[in-house]
Amino acid sequence: MISIDEIKKNFRGRIVLSEPMNSYTTFHIGGPADYFFEPVDREDTTAIVRYLQVQEFPFVAIGRGSNLLVSNEGYRGAVVNMGTGLKSCRIDDDKIYVEAGLPLNRFVDLCIQHSLKGVEMLAGIPGTIGGAIIMNAGAYGGEISTYLTDIEIMRDGTCTILPKDEAKFSYRHASFQEHDVVVSARFRMPKGEREELERTRTELILKRNRKHPVNYPNCGSVFKNMPELPAAKYIEDAGLKGTQIGNAQISEKHANFIINLGGATASDVYNLIELVKKSVLEKFGILLQLEVKLLGFPEPGTEKAIP
Ligand SMILES: Cc1cc2nc3c(=O)[nH]c(=O)nc-3n(C[C@H](O)[C@H](O)[C@H](O)COP(=O)(O)OP(=O)(O)OC[C@H]3O[C@@H](n4cnc5c(N)ncnc54)[C@H](O)[C@@H]3O)c2cc1C
Repeated sequence: MISIDEIKKNFRGRIVLSEPMNSYTTFHIGGPADYFFEPVDREDTTAIVRYLQVQEFPFVAIGRGSNLLVSNEGYRGAVVNMGTGLKSCRIDDDKIYVEAGLPLNRFVDLCIQHSLKGVEMLAGIPGTIGGAIIMNAGAYGGEISTYLTDIEIMRDGTCTILPKDEAKFSYRHASFQEHDVVVSARFRMPKGEREELERTRTELILKRNRKHPVNYPNCGSVFKNMPELPAAKYIEDAGLKGTQIGNAQISEKHANFIINLGGATASDVYNLIELVKKSVLEKFGILLQLEVKLLGFPEPGTEKAIP
């Protein structure tokens, strides 16, 4: 158990009990988290994360919730919103220090303003720096980890600097320990030409808007691409585009997106995910891997019921 009175001695931010998570995910889906914390600054963030880690209380750090499906029942633990207290960014020539809660789009903007090249292709990804590092977010040939030099994390209640190599970045994956929390990161980037970087950003955002179902709540790509083919190709060839369960639908525009048509539940989305996995496995012998992170669902193999 955690003690709110104890927490309040070192924490100045917002504390909410039983907070619905649908307001904190781009899917607009999710039941209540037992405890929800919004730190006001760095000191506050490290205080609450330290408390939860030392108490070994179940918790997750979230950014923009843009890669998250939270179950209808919500989460029996604490959620720390990293987007409220950790937003600073300092640029000194080719070196950048950035805190985990800064929106990725703001980071891209600052890099372009300083004529730093290497993250302009990530414009339009609606996450935070912390979420992007955990996911090794990437697009159009670029990845957040490319020009990363090291990462400040909290582990077992203590801040530690991890050199980039220790995180073993690969496609949409990084090797952190389960309760590590990203606090800040440092990058070193080559110089580019500002007008050209701006042009690239604009072109790629237009491309995104043409390809992705941006008018409906979603979580980006649901499945990871396979080495041979994009996941969308398998889903489309399995004839699943437009398939609907409840108010969730496999997008007609891009088959690797599930969209919330309005009032979709986590079960609607989860059942569509299961349908896609089963159909693609039966038809092509390929087991698609989830890119979206699930929160508040039973661990695979522990319970039969789908929440
Ligand atoms: C319209 C749309 C387009 C997208 N396009 C792309 C794309 O082109 N490429 C791509 O890679 N992704 C894409 N995404 C997915 C998503 O935006 C990225 O994965 C993003 O990096 C997630 O960041 P977040 O802050 O929202 O993380 P969240 O969704 O909040 O969290 C994701 C995971 O990271 C963990 N986490 C978050 N912050 C921290 C932290 N500070 N410390 C420790 N753990 C943390 C969470 O616990 C969770 O496990 C898209 C999503 C949408 C909705």
